[in-house]
Amino acid sequence: KERGRGDYRLYRPTTSRLPASEMISLERDLHYALHHDGLRLVVQPIVSRHEAAISGAETLVRIEHPTRGELSPQTFIPVAEESGLIIPISQWMLEQGMAWLATISTQGYQDLTLSFNVSVREFHDGGLVERLSTALARHELAADRIILEVTENLMLEPSQGILDQFNAIRALGCRLAIDDFGTGFSSLSYLQSLPFDIIKVDRSFVRDMPHNRQHTLLVGAIAEMGHALGLAVTMEGIESAEQASQCWRLGADHLQGYYFSKPLPMEHFQDHLAGGVDC
Ligand code: C2E
Ligand code: CA
Ligand code: CA
Ligand code: CA
Repeated sequence: KERGRGDYRLYRPTTSRLPASEMISLERDLHYALHHDGLRLVVQPIVSRHEAAISGAETLVRIEHPTRGELSPQTFIPVAEESGLIIPISQWMLEQGMAWLATISTQGYQDLTLSFNVSVREFHDGGLVERLSTALARHELAADRIILEVTENLMLEPSQGILDQFNAIRALGCRLAIDDFGTGFSSLSYLQSLPFDIIKVDRSFVRDMPHNRQHTLLVGAIAEMGHALGLAVTMEGIESAEQASQCWRLGADHLQGYYFSKPLPMEHFQDHLAGGVDC
């Protein structure tokens, strides 16, 4: 079933808790969405410390289900990974996201970055680098405007095949971020040996700040360590002004969260840019 490059040991399905019937029905929904214009791309602004303004956005996928309304990626991404449908979904996201970025660049936003979430499965599939470089060329985008977010579990046992792809992605000029940092099993040692540019501190640490002193200390230490290793630090899940100012104080380079904006349909993003944000 696995078509990896010999590193499929890493791939652990996360859907085993779902009943088989539910998985089959979700897989059917995914197929349907892919072929009947049911996928949606939303973008969530990312705010920069330096410009005190929106400097980028993260793309997030949605499914518009004909009867069940909007489906959350939390439900269907694991099924997409297990079934392999994550490959065409991700391809669709890259295409839509880059087309949008190219369009708004002609309207004066030449520096905006766009982040995409990449699943472990896509590294095992092996076609990611090719898809990325083709899409960049087609949309005539500078590679440094594209950030790929990978989760920590990818680093549990980094294989040569995955390392080669990390290096190829950076050779193209794109940047790599570690998503949900602090939640995985990873040792910190991979941070200095792997080619990352950005740490995204998981929102579970931010959630009960500033009251949880331990989390506050931890987030400050992560930021300090990240900076010492030359990485930029993003903190996500910012829901209040209090959390925002605390995170800036702890050294965040970028912030993301409902306080600034929820994920938005692409066509609403520009209203936000025009209106500015309060950071
Ligand atoms: P993630 O990459 O950690 O994305 C951040 C999630 O946190 C998003 O949920 C976002 O809506 C939510 N969020 C952002 N700010 C706040 C906040 O202030 N408070 C709270 N409570 N939540 C906030 P979403 O869109 O449901 O996505 C869930 C996960 O699904 C993502 O987590 C990511 O792992 C996965 N995912 C989403 N889109 C894609 C995709 O296109 N490809 C892949 N491979 N995975 C995706
Ligand atoms: Ca992410
Ligand atoms: Ca995250
Ligand atoms: Ca996540």
